[in-house]
Amino acid sequence: MTSPVFRFAPSSNGALHLGHAYSALLNFAMARAAGGRFLLRIEDIDVTRCTPELEQAIYRDLAWLGLEWEEPVRRQSEHFDDYAQALERLVDAEIVYPSFMSRGEARVYVAEAEADGSAWPRDPDGAPLFPPVDRQRSEAERRRRMEAGDPFAWRLDMKAAATHVGQPLFWEESGAGPDGETGRVSAHPELWGDVVIARKEMPASYHLAVVVDDALQDITHVVRGRDLFHATAVHRLLQELLGLPVPAYHHHALALDDDGRKLSKSRGDTGIAALRAAGASPGDILRMVGLDQAVQYQF
Ligand code: GLU
Repeated sequence: MTSPVFRFAPSSNGALHLGHAYSALLNFAMARAAGGRFLLRIEDIDVTRCTPELEQAIYRDLAWLGLEWEEPVRRQSEHFDDYAQALERLVDAEIVYPSFMSRGEARVYVAEAEADGSAWPRDPDGAPLFPPVDRQRSEAERRRRMEAGDPFAWRLDMKAAATHVGQPLFWEESGAGPDGETGRVSAHPELWGDVVIARKEMPASYHLAVVVDDALQDITHVVRGRDLFHATAVHRLLQELLGLPVPAYHHHALALDDDGRKLSKSRGDTGIAALRAAGASPGDILRMVGLDQAVQYQF
């Protein structure tokens, strides 16, 4: 049996806070306990918001915490070809379609549909499902607009994708979802509607890049925050469509601030660098996130 492979995959669009420290340290502890490998991946497909400075700060914070990871680090911005190849397969299979409706137009469409008091369906994050307008366009119109250079995103045709797969999907969860879901969990990607797979200015969505990378990096265990629990259904569907291996999943609780709100990158007070500047030690951080028993460094 090959050894387990874990990864911590932050986006380099902000500074790491205690929530990230928890996730990184938990991955590291689980990898050590399993005799496995620990990889770091920088999720920087959004090149407008991710910067080299923030990326360097991530390395600094993680090294200060005592983490060691394998080099080279995979940076998504260096692998757009891999995502383009995966996208091409989905285009060839006719399970993605070009979507021309802008986010603003979609908002207006949904508001008009709700004007009579009826509720438009929402995804697990509470966002309205994308209107079906683009999915229903004729092939001729799609071609004409693409040839005219109209901007578009590739969206997954969720119904066509489900038909293509033809069987219910599951994943093994050793953590828990928001409602305590654990063990063999049923995936319901249809709850998300026609998700974006790639955009003109961003050649891969998070969903596409994450499944391609987890496969290319031989990840066996995905350990991440519970906020991504429901997104796993989309990941399972993409893995099935692209014939990729399926890792085990562990969604952990999110670190909350004193008011019970999820920590965010914009709140500097729980930032790792800010805590370090204020005199905290790595051991203090371990205690703050409750992992001081779990993580034993080999200094
Ligand atoms: N890059 C994502 C984030 O920072 C995490 C992706 C994942 O672990 O699958 O929220």
